[in-house]
Amino acid sequence: MTDALFLQDSYMKECDATVLSVKDDKYVVLDKTIFYPKGGGQPYDTGKVVRGNDEFQVVFSGKFSGEISHEVDHPGLAANDSVHCILDWDRRYRLMRSHTAAHTLASIMWKETGALITGNQLDVDKVRFDFNLENFSREIFDGLIVKANEVFKKDVPVRWFELPREEALKIPGIVKMAGAFPPEIMNLRIVEIVGVDKQADGGTHVKNLKEVGQIELVKAENKGKNNRRVYFRLIP
Ligand SMILES: [Zn+2]
Repeated sequence: MTDALFLQDSYMKECDATVLSVKDDKYVVLDKTIFYPKGGGQPYDTGKVVRGNDEFQVVFSGKFSGEISHEVDHPGLAANDSVHCILDWDRRYRLMRSHTAAHTLASIMWKETGALITGNQLDVDKVRFDFNLENFSREIFDGLIVKANEVFKKDVPVRWFELPREEALKIPGIVKMAGAFPPEIMNLRIVEIVGVDKQADGGTHVKNLKEVGQIELVKAENKGKNNRRVYFRLIP
């Protein structure tokens, strides 16, 4: 089983690892990894796996049968190879900032309107939220963004801990983002933005809200009677 280092420390940009297996010359499983596999509404990481002078670009990383698999751009890696992993940090760090922004905005939205996110997708350039809310307007959402941007100016730590599933699910609003719900495990990983939000979640986040910066609404759509969709993004 691969040791998922990004769950312990989302700021690790490089690590040494050993190849456990290679399938079809391009799907590589390592004993440990810093590459986040696509899932829970968060996109995959990219970067490279280096063996000596040979660099293999990691073009995709996903979870298959419980294993984190890295798709590399050319054949050559073999089981027992010692490699060095290097993350595309710019891409990942943007995702960490928007992921943490999404928690904050979901929490403010839940407190102000009672709406829960029914679907969400982080992307490198924007974040999508779907939710059910009868009384909704662009102005209401603009107001939520203004509130979130006030919070992003504060020095607020973000930390994580594990709780037994039963206990975690008693916390009101612990699952505000549909994609974030981890299905079958005994202990849930709780990401806490101190004083702002607690969310069951296996993604990667920044360690202080100040790192998020500011966000802006891209567009708001009505997808049906109560179905709303909004896109927001980090202001560069
Ligand atoms: Zn998260």
